[in-house]
Amino acid sequence: MTATQSLNQLISCQDDYDPNSMPVQQARKFIQRFLNPVSDTETLPLTAAVGRVLAKSVISPLNVPSHDNSAMDGFALHSQDINSPALNIIGTAYAGKPFIGTVNAGECIRIMTGALIPQDTDTVIMQERTEVSGNRMTMLEPPKPQANVRYAGEDLKKGQVVLETGRQLRPADIGLIASLGIGEVSVYRKLKVAFFSTGDELVSIGQPLGAGQIYDSNRYTLHGMLLGLNVDIIDMGVVRDDPAALEQALIEAATQADVILTSGGVSVGEADFMKQLLEKLGQVVFWKIAMKPGRPLAYGKVGSAHYFGLPGNPVSVMVTFYQFVRDALLYLAGQNPVPALPLLNATCTEPIRKLAGRTEFQRGILFADAAGNWQVRPTGNQGSGILRSMSEANCFIVLNDAIGNLPAGVEVQVQVMEGLL
Ligand code: AMP
Ligand code: MG
Repeated sequence: MTATQSLNQLISCQDDYDPNSMPVQQARKFIQRFLNPVSDTETLPLTAAVGRVLAKSVISPLNVPSHDNSAMDGFALHSQDINSPALNIIGTAYAGKPFIGTVNAGECIRIMTGALIPQDTDTVIMQERTEVSGNRMTMLEPPKPQANVRYAGEDLKKGQVVLETGRQLRPADIGLIASLGIGEVSVYRKLKVAFFSTGDELVSIGQPLGAGQIYDSNRYTLHGMLLGLNVDIIDMGVVRDDPAALEQALIEAATQADVILTSGGVSVGEADFMKQLLEKLGQVVFWKIAMKPGRPLAYGKVGSAHYFGLPGNPVSVMVTFYQFVRDALLYLAGQNPVPALPLLNATCTEPIRKLAGRTEFQRGILFADAAGNWQVRPTGNQGSGILRSMSEANCFIVLNDAIGNLPAGVEVQVQVMEGLL
């Protein structure tokens, strides 16, 4: 089945499919059904693998820790001696330098954190609970039997799956893999993402602005957002609203990249010629999403590349990127499951104007009040061309379809931008 057939079939068999009022959730589900993650892999040394996605599960080749060892600086003894008035200190065990010898009844050894627990002992009393005089150690209170011992395999057991395929590797994961003595991992190759801006009014930085012209900012926000996703970025510049130039750019992008992103040219009026062009080159659907900002959105395939046609407005391009493209790119890059972005509850300090029947992503400033409770204040002008609102904001106030106007002081859900941007 080709992508063309399946896209059309899926559309025609959905009763509630309305391209002119597509709910956010439905659009996400629809896109999800067509995503096919990269399958090529490469082997990388650990230090180069941070942020990459595991293509093969990591299995533990050994127990971690490999031997029973002490969790404290103190004295190792046998639990039969916990109530003895005093014990003879007959030696010392250091981390990496075990005590060699036998510990008999009435005896103990000084032991450091991480040092091997000698065979004849099973309990460690911490130094602070003891008094030492010469080679005699007195316990100020008896320790619990088996206290302060870290057991072999307590962290990881030999043969255990430590990290699963599809996981994006974080610094803690890299350390965990290193603790197993493994120096290389198999990861998916990076996703290649090509993007360009469309519009006759757009001017690149360094050139003077003519009448009615504006500087292209979307390419810079898109570049910045893509940097955070660990993909290979192909910046194709500005393309005029000219069918031949657009066709050439799309064909070039499709041969180089797994994903093509464009901004502009998908709103009413402009969409008609983009539609014709994309129908010729692949299979693309145009939606008006029931959301604000970010109403027009196109999705589909150009050749074998995934295509996202984002709106031109600078705020809309960022919101649609975060709400649709981000998760799709992470999934295409091999992440599975893609961790959902968390939503926090916060009290809104001001009334909110909101139209029921669509999802709004208003820009907000999240802060803690004197009592430490989270509050959110909407940034002023919420117009989708006001990029300053994104720059000032540190969160989206996510208002779902059912919500209408809200008075000040009610609880709302926010999505923190930290880590997103
Ligand atoms: P469009 O979706 O092409 O109709 O564009 C909607 C609005 O966004 C228009 O005001 C455009 O001038 C503006 N716009 C489109 N692309 C960009 C861009 N790359 N940078 C800044 N503004 C843009
Ligand atoms: Mg345009």
